[in-house]
Amino acid sequence: MITRTGEVTYDVLSSSGGSYKVARTSKGWGCMCQARVFCKHLRTALANRDMVVGCMRTVAALTDKSNDATLLGSDGFDAWAGQEEG
Ligand SMILES: [Zn+2]
Repeated sequence: MITRTGEVTYDVLSSSGGSYKVARTSKGWGCMCQARVFCKHLRTALANRDMVVGCMRTVAALTDKSNDATLLGSDGFDAWAGQEEG
């Protein structure tokens, strides 16, 4: 489940019940989970950037890494939290 909460903010609810905030800051896109790598929450949010603000969508977590380069775009990715992917 993913909810777009603002222009550059998303809430991603994992199947295990965890809630993660994904947002773009001046440093780039980041997720509040423990991942230092490009995590599935961030990947899921970027893959659903077509959502309207306030929209909620039920999607499976995007774990396919093959399209990461496309998802990132010029905004880039700066992991501002975490140690390992959870
Ligand atoms: Zn994450």
